[in-house]
Amino acid sequence: MVHQYVYFFGDGKADGNAQMKGLLGGKGANLAEMTNLGIPVPPGFTITTEICGYYYENNLQYPPDLKAQVDDALRRLESLMGRKFGDPEAPLLVSVRSGAASSMPGMMDTVLNLGLNDQTVLGLMKETQDERFAYDCYRRFVAMYGDVVLGLKPAQKDQTDPFEHILEEMRKRRNVHFDSELPASDLKELVERYKTLIRAHMDVMFPQDPMEQLWGAIGAVFGSWNNPRAIAYRELNNIPADMGTAVNIQAMVFGNMGEDCGTGVGFTRNPATGENVFYGEYLINAQGEDVVAGIRTPQPINKAQKTDPNTLSLEETMPEIYQQLEEVRRRLGRHYRDMQDIEFTIQKGKLWMLQTRTGKRTAFASFKIAVDMVRANIITKEEALMRVDPDQLNQLLRPVFDPKAKEAAVKSKALLAKGLNAGPGAATGRVVFSAPDAEQWAAKGEKIILVRVETSPEDIRGMHASQGILTARGGMTSHAALVGRQMGKVCVVGCNALEIEYRTHRMTVGDRIIREGDWLSLDGTTGEVFVGQIPTQPSEVLSVILEGKGATSDSQVYQDYMELLGWADECRTLGVWTNADQPNQVEMALAFGAEGIGLTRTEHMFFEGDRIDAVREMILSDDVEGRKRALAKLLPMQKEDFKGIFRVMQGKPVTIRTLDPPLHEFLPHEEKDIEKLAHDMWVPVERLQAKIESLHEVNPMLGHRGCRLGIVFPEITEMQAQAIMEAACEVKKEGIDVHPEIMIPLVGHVAELKNQRAVVDAAAQEVMKRYEIQVPYRVGTMIEVPRGALTADAIAEVAEFFSFGTNDLTQTVFGISRDDAGRFLSDYLGARIWESDPFEKLDQVGVGGLMEIAVQKGRSTKPDLKIGICGEHGGEPSSVDFCHRIGLNYVSCSPYRVPVARLAAAQAAIRQKNAKS
Ligand code: ADP
Ligand code: MG
Ligand code: MG
Repeated sequence: MVHQYVYFFGDGKADGNAQMKGLLGGKGANLAEMTNLGIPVPPGFTITTEICGYYYENNLQYPPDLKAQVDDALRRLESLMGRKFGDPEAPLLVSVRSGAASSMPGMMDTVLNLGLNDQTVLGLMKETQDERFAYDCYRRFVAMYGDVVLGLKPAQKDQTDPFEHILEEMRKRRNVHFDSELPASDLKELVERYKTLIRAHMDVMFPQDPMEQLWGAIGAVFGSWNNPRAIAYRELNNIPADMGTAVNIQAMVFGNMGEDCGTGVGFTRNPATGENVFYGEYLINAQGEDVVAGIRTPQPINKAQKTDPNTLSLEETMPEIYQQLEEVRRRLGRHYRDMQDIEFTIQKGKLWMLQTRTGKRTAFASFKIAVDMVRANIITKEEALMRVDPDQLNQLLRPVFDPKAKEAAVKSKALLAKGLNAGPGAATGRVVFSAPDAEQWAAKGEKIILVRVETSPEDIRGMHASQGILTARGGMTSHAALVGRQMGKVCVVGCNALEIEYRTHRMTVGDRIIREGDWLSLDGTTGEVFVGQIPTQPSEVLSVILEGKGATSDSQVYQDYMELLGWADECRTLGVWTNADQPNQVEMALAFGAEGIGLTRTEHMFFEGDRIDAVREMILSDDVEGRKRALAKLLPMQKEDFKGIFRVMQGKPVTIRTLDPPLHEFLPHEEKDIEKLAHDMWVPVERLQAKIESLHEVNPMLGHRGCRLGIVFPEITEMQAQAIMEAACEVKKEGIDVHPEIMIPLVGHVAELKNQRAVVDAAAQEVMKRYEIQVPYRVGTMIEVPRGALTADAIAEVAEFFSFGTNDLTQTVFGISRDDAGRFLSDYLGARIWESDPFEKLDQVGVGGLMEIAVQKGRSTKPDLKIGICGEHGGEPSSVDFCHRIGLNYVSCSPYRVPVARLAAAQAAIRQKNAKS
């Protein structure tokens, strides 16, 4: 038995299918699937991703069996097509296409029209009676082969491609705009000049032997798996580097044979809004790459999409083809049950499908499609929930321009130009004209608008670093639009009015000049480009939430958002709480769906108004009496804060942490502040100075902080407990239910918690007696140092709940200070020592391993011990999934991440359920 490396598709039957993406890549698997569905696909075959792995592990060699299998498949293709590879009479031409399991649009290489040489081009010419067409294919092929396979690229970035350079010269000479206007003789001349260029620069001859061409192209496609832009793309999108690409070899169909030919791309729904309308672009008399390359701005596929009455849609120019395409769209939509991104080519009035894949979409579209498809009974609620990326939810909450400011900008003639609205949202920033500049400026903290004639895959890092992306050319499916949309960037493309001059770092628009560093504002929802800075404001969804209109709002996005999150709440078992310190934050979190407060940092309120004076006085007092005097001033203020929070929370649990940070964080450092404080406290300046110095710590994060403060100064804990309980009693007397949970930070030894618990209990009993009312309260602890986790069984004897403080726990488990990690973080990520920043994504193995121990030990003492997490990780989807798996009761995160956590928690529950069944 030989191992199968090559999978054939053609004539209504395929060896593979859509399930085989890992082996055949997404493109190959879907070409097979479409073939099986009876959709017209040019026949061909796929070399598996296994070969890519083999190729890299074996010094860029192939397994010995491969050649014979490729030869067989090629013979089969020849007989199906009735043409022969390299035949001077009726040559078979093929494309050699990359295609990995996860789609990486435009990142890897493809070669078209392969099989042409000085002989076969004559055959093609005779056969078609079309010299222009034959040489158009040949010149495209030589240029693509020279670039992709032989590696002839511009010497420097931002220089025009050397092949394009010659082509431009030819267009100038003829005084024409488009390649399609060049006569056959010019194209013939181009071929020769390209060949000369290759010989001169690369010191090789352009190969005439089709087999040599084929293996060259196959090697180049495998090689493109590891080109810098593909690597960068994988890093940004967390695609594993060892998956590899497949290679698809497919019979060519020609969209460049004349006016009854063309090529296009489309989405089965609008990828920006999610509306159920066909969306796409096409070009007459062109080959595939012309559409995405932005050489000519393509025309809309249908009348519905036309903005300019002078353009002609496919629906108008080729109505029958458009109807066939509509039919294919319907079938693909039904079959794949999701929005598809398609490529097609029309050869002499016949439609051919060249690709289908799940289409990238904005957050808006993602929501709309998921919700629509549930309403139409196409997918289940659970499927819908699994399809929406929790991180994309943030996009729905992204800012828009303040309408008044925008109106004013329009009135003051700040509107510079209008392009296509490829990526919604509002962005304002300073202009740069290259991706490396964008990266550099962004690193200095600047907000950036990246302006390019057209972006290319090399630009993705710079795009990532920018607030917004603006291009002069290209359509809604151009690289900038596709990638920008996926990154969630504000993006305006095809803004033809821009004349960009890279050399001088400026652009002109009519009579206006914009220089590098000038401010621009982009409205990605309308496509408008403004000079200057326009203030932004919350998104539509956010506005409805913030204004509390809720049920009365007729905003469709808001309705979809609420509906989907409602389904998420039905599915999830993990609670979603919030970290909030002030009543207004709490209100916002509740509007986002928070079910409790997992962390109130009391010290955040210490900086308000003149409170800091009392705090400083407390810290700098020499004795208990002095401290108590200062604390007595703080008590009523803290109490009012807590009352505000309790009132808003209406009986939902509120976890309040006792004082945590190192005290010197509150101390004055400026001379004049110290003088004032000394005056207020009636002590000599020198004494105060000395006291401040004595509080200095070498390593404050591991110093006198957390419960250590309350142990040394019990009056602090006592005051806080008293403030919490007095607030609770008073609010309860107002008729509002209250559930305070008092949380002791940084406990590593059960005796620490016992000590603090005694202080809290005593204060609580005293308060409740004084108020003559009982308020149920709990005392628990944060688990944020390794010893706390390892002795969780003992700690659980005293604690009524645990909350993982994973920020500190990550610091202490890694032995890395969070404040200093920035110095080596990027090196660690670059060297792949860490897969991700452990302060952002929970380290499930190390920190998470310790959490599992703590959960297991804690519950061995108290089986129903309530356990949550209140570190930053509580709002990060993969960490939320982990928390669900280890059986936490809730996650707590900042208000804005509450919706993300709700969805992530639902996905975690669904994933677990699916894994079990
Ligand atoms: P990418 O992954 O960058 O989209 P593709 O392999 O899909 O690369 O090919 C690039 C372009 O060439 C696409 O527009 C595609 O439709 C076109 N193309 C690929 N193969 C053929 C073919 N056999 N006949 C005609 N056009 C093709
Ligand atoms: Mg493609
Ligand atoms: Mg902490």
